[in-house]
Amino acid sequence: MVQNPGNSFTLLSLVYMVLLAIVYFKKPRVKSEETKIYGLIVLVCLIGNIISVGTYYFMKNMNSFPILNEIFARTYLVFVLTFTSLVTDYVLAISINERKIKKAEKYLLYSKIFIIFFGIFTSIMAFLLPIEYVSENGLVYSTGTVVKVVFTATRICVGTWIVILLMQIKRLKEKKYWPMITYVILGGIVSYIQGNHPEYLLTTSMIIFVTVLMYFTIENPDLKLINELNLAKDQADKANNAKTEFLSSMSHEIRTPLNAIMGYGTILQEHNDLSPEVRDDIKNIMTASDNLLEIVNGILDISKIEANKLEIIDTEYEPKEMFNDLVKMSEVKLKAMNKPIEFKCYFDESIPPVLYGDQGRVKQIILNLLTNAIKYTNKGWIEFKVSCVSKKDVTRLIISVEDTGIGIKEDKIDKLFTKFERLEVEKSTTVEGTGLGLAITKKLVDLMNGKIVVQSKFGEGSKFSVSLDQRIVKDKKELEKTGIIELDNIEFVDKKVLVVDDNIVNLKVAGRLLEKYNVKITESSSGQDALNKIKDNKYDLILLDDMMPGMSGTETLIEMKKDKEFNTPVIALTANAINGMREKYLDSGFDDYIPKPIDREELEKKLKKFLGGN
Ligand code: ADP
Repeated sequence: MVQNPGNSFTLLSLVYMVLLAIVYFKKPRVKSEETKIYGLIVLVCLIGNIISVGTYYFMKNMNSFPILNEIFARTYLVFVLTFTSLVTDYVLAISINERKIKKAEKYLLYSKIFIIFFGIFTSIMAFLLPIEYVSENGLVYSTGTVVKVVFTATRICVGTWIVILLMQIKRLKEKKYWPMITYVILGGIVSYIQGNHPEYLLTTSMIIFVTVLMYFTIENPDLKLINELNLAKDQADKANNAKTEFLSSMSHEIRTPLNAIMGYGTILQEHNDLSPEVRDDIKNIMTASDNLLEIVNGILDISKIEANKLEIIDTEYEPKEMFNDLVKMSEVKLKAMNKPIEFKCYFDESIPPVLYGDQGRVKQIILNLLTNAIKYTNKGWIEFKVSCVSKKDVTRLIISVEDTGIGIKEDKIDKLFTKFERLEVEKSTTVEGTGLGLAITKKLVDLMNGKIVVQSKFGEGSKFSVSLDQRIVKDKKELEKTGIIELDNIEFVDKKVLVVDDNIVNLKVAGRLLEKYNVKITESSSGQDALNKIKDNKYDLILLDDMMPGMSGTETLIEMKKDKEFNTPVIALTANAINGMREKYLDSGFDDYIPKPIDREELEKKLKKFLGGN
């Protein structure tokens, strides 16, 4: 008596199939076309596997159960056909979804209808065509026309898969195609074996094997895990937003008193009758305030960058003007620090006159590098160089800042761009800094798809090079001049300026800062009061704080503009000084923007712009 190896496989497959069905149907599923079809495949396979076991049993005892034998044998063929049709539908579904074909739903529906008809037609055939049973010496199988037709139909389906798979040959590496490829290969082997040994009942085991394989490749991520992850992400986002909000209000709150400190500092510094000691003391107050402001700005920047909320705001700008600004700012810093350093600069003649990019951020990057060079160099020179390579409408700015300063140890270079990381200087208190500058610089360069490279030799000097792509603006418009203006004694005699701020100290600071221009200042402490004042008076300029209780500056401006005759320029004067705010205020209808703490030069520039020169 010959043992039938096929039936042992079939029985074993049934164990697998039951386990698979339990696992698959118990777990929450993603609702997609693929998982829907796969669910059906699992169900069909489970039933098919049971039928397969029954078929073997009844065929073996066909004399006792002739009718059940007939029913089971033919239903088994229907199972093979249904399975193949469903897999054909599955292959079509994943390939159509993958190719992102337009009207995919329509295609899917047509193919589904065709497959259903094909399945029904062949299944009817499976019940009508003649069948023969062989059951001798323990070998059990069916044969005859019906078996040939069913296997031809399956081959047609497998042929269709091969065509579909070949159409996406590049994607075949993807996991989800593996079961089909396995089925095609195994199908070939099994049909060869069964062609020669029809008694080896391998079809069911092969089908179950492929179905189990599909379970591991189907896109059915664990929903419970996803829900937990989503919850965790939501909580993290909320915490992050709370942090960003806290930081931005903290920045606002710190800026408000800082405005008073720096404002009065500026006014005091401008007195002529100060003793050298007092002058020095005020200078120290101003330096400390500057550092505090830098820290506030730095923390705000880094938190925005980390929350992915920092936007690059591109506008047209004149690069040469910006470089000259940076040179002047550096020279002022060098002078203030009293360092005997030669400051050299070279700007390539071919740099296009007008570029399109985030001028504020480009300036911030270069200023960070220049400030570091100044901070960490005590003798020798600093070289600020900008060259460019232009191609079509894009120019690559190659900016380098080189110094003969303290340099950086080779093993520390990797740490340079880590936030709050300060290298050699942590022990010395003479060089002010937070260790945020380069971390921000690097992130900004990355955000603009640029590159930053450091070369340094400890004790000899460093060179920081940045490359940034900026668009070239061909038809140049008249751009607003942003350069540092010469501080001459400008006066705006008889010009009337209305200053609106709910904070009395800040109102006084603004008034004191404006005093030297001989303008007529009117103070107002609320939006409503300002509206009343403009009804009876005509002003030449309004400086309007935004964050005020009751009516904000922006709301006040909207009210002001309701009067058609109103044409006084209004400048937003605000401690809400995050980058990008200028654009926000201009969009809200303000004519300009001055961040707090008020910078004397900035104020003077804006007065000149709106009140005219003397
Ligand atoms: P900060 O200057 O506020 O400490 P940065 O992030 O700008 O922070 O710089 C990080 C560290 O990198 C500095 O503390 C300093 O040790 C080192 N560094 C940066 N630029 C230079 C330079 N030009 N020469 C030497 N060391 C530098």
